[in-house]
Amino acid sequence: MADIIAENLGCYYGRGEARVMAVHQVDFGIAWGEFVALMGESGAGKSTLLTMMGAMNSPSAGHYRVDGIDVYGLNAEQRADFRREYLGFVFQRFHLMPYLSVLENVMLPLAVAPLTRKQKRQRAMDALAWVGLDTKAKRLPGEISGGEMERVAVGRAIVNDPPILLADEPTGNLDSRTSHEIMVLLQRLNQEGMTIIMVTHSQACADYAARVMEISDGRLTNDRQVGQRMRLAATG
Ligand code: ADP
Ligand code: MG
Repeated sequence: MADIIAENLGCYYGRGEARVMAVHQVDFGIAWGEFVALMGESGAGKSTLLTMMGAMNSPSAGHYRVDGIDVYGLNAEQRADFRREYLGFVFQRFHLMPYLSVLENVMLPLAVAPLTRKQKRQRAMDALAWVGLDTKAKRLPGEISGGEMERVAVGRAIVNDPPILLADEPTGNLDSRTSHEIMVLLQRLNQEGMTIIMVTHSQACADYAARVMEISDGRLTNDRQVGQRMRLAATG
């Protein structure tokens, strides 16, 4: 039995003539530890599907289960707890707070965690060290490069040590060398056991994943194991 399960999942926007079936009748199962690339053209429904998987967009149809939990059967508060416990999210744009330091940005998800301020700082520093940015902890987002901002976003997503990382076009704004660095980072996280589901329309990025799911007009049109063509060993 898979650990992340979508059953007949659908998300419809608008009504009547204007109704858009952004995601329609999608079924899949993902096991812990997989690295999945979700591919498809612009408007195909990738972000909609990812936000449903992120417990932040109620489906119009179907069910979504993680670790046996019916995610949309939870009330809002339980779902917020679920998100904190299970999910890290890297958004399409970095969504960093411009007036908070790199360190403070990474600490944000720990706001309500039962930890002292010192423990939160330590956790955030550990996450920053993981993404190779501990030396830039005091900078503001405007004082680092795009690739570094993306790494901060990854650091913030993993600071809670979630079992699942969801990433929406994590390299959409980056050049190919910087994209490669981010992909290597995600692959390392995956090798440490994190389940990764990444939206991308870049084949070069999808090559780092072990499984590719393709979505077209809201439907899953292809789902195959590809066996990680790009490997960590590619960099030092
Ligand atoms: P992708 O991420 O693959 O580019 P999206 O999931 O963003 O695709 O969008 C899928 C479809 O749903 C598109 O036709 C888009 O215009 C539509 N859509 C997305 N979000 C909304 C929304 N909040 N309201 C209405 N339509 C939306
Ligand atoms: Mg999108």
